[in-house]
Amino acid sequence: MRVFKLKRENFLPFLKGLEKFGELWGPVKKGENYVYAKEDPEKFELKALRTIIPAKKFFIPKNSTILKFKNGEWKEHYEVRKRVIFGLHPCELNGLNIYHRFYTRLYPDPYYLKARENTLIVGLSCMPDDKCFCFATKTSTVDEGFDLFLTDLEDKFLLWIGSPKGEDAIRTLSEFLEEVSQKDIDDYIAWRKRRDRAFKLDIDLEGMPEIVTFSYDSPIWEKMGDACLSCGTCTMVCPTCTCFDIDDEYDIRQDEMNRQRFWYSCVFREYSMVAGGHNFREAKSERLKLWYTHKLVGFMSEYGSPACVGCGRCIASCPVGINVLSVVKALRKEKTDAFWKRVEVKNA
Ligand code: SF4
Ligand code: SF4
Repeated sequence: MRVFKLKRENFLPFLKGLEKFGELWGPVKKGENYVYAKEDPEKFELKALRTIIPAKKFFIPKNSTILKFKNGEWKEHYEVRKRVIFGLHPCELNGLNIYHRFYTRLYPDPYYLKARENTLIVGLSCMPDDKCFCFATKTSTVDEGFDLFLTDLEDKFLLWIGSPKGEDAIRTLSEFLEEVSQKDIDDYIAWRKRRDRAFKLDIDLEGMPEIVTFSYDSPIWEKMGDACLSCGTCTMVCPTCTCFDIDDEYDIRQDEMNRQRFWYSCVFREYSMVAGGHNFREAKSERLKLWYTHKLVGFMSEYGSPACVGCGRCIASCPVGINVLSVVKALRKEKTDAFWKRVEVKNA
């Protein structure tokens, strides 16, 4: 991977130069939070952490028409725009990498692929706050899934080129770039140490697949289910949640139909309902258990890593304060305590 230096004073001209590759989107302030918006790059917040909705919205929108029926035939419907998305942090990029695997591995999704093909992804480094735990999920660094990545070292940036698309982009902007010196490398190493020490939260995911599997009948799920509102916020804001549903909108006068895809959630009551009205997961506790099992067990066995990248969005957004860290800690404590109790009984 090639790396260059970008002086601070060249940052905005460089960013504006990227506009020739598509609409430029980046993180801007909205109330107390951040959102990705198509804005003047001068308004982009370089210190922004998690946006309310992750960058997955650029690839599979919250709601989109995927097929149109007219004059007796169905046609695929794409709404593709050339875009440059700036400001994706390592956790976000790792989340997108999980998303990418899901939408390309077994059944490649043409809508996802088209959107991806038309997007230039520009990552940005960050400093954690009290809800970030990507260091613990091993997603605080990233080495694939971006075209360009900027590490902010205050007076300058290091610019990493992550793909042929990134190479093409900088070819037209090389006037802003310089070779990296030993001092730049030393500054980067010092920054990395400072950043790694800044994490306040920790989560121990070691052995979680077994712990969650053995916790199938734990009362912890009931407690969470009692508090949960089934609002689905945790799943909508999670960068690795991929569930969607399909619906047909029929215009009887025109004999036309739109097939819509929209984000859906495994915590919704109707999610596990089948024909005849039977619901496999009537209880909220069962639906939450499915979410955690999918993230910490299913994904682990299929892809070798959990489907949590430590972005803290679900912690920041849950209206009743259900917190993935507390759940993992409680399950671990319950299983460890039960284990020690068994050992004591055996030794008695
Ligand atoms: S489970 Fe929560 S912390 Fe983990 S990736 Fe999803 S939203 Fe982020
Ligand atoms: S955000 Fe909280 S209340 Fe809403 S579905 Fe998720 S866990 Fe339940």
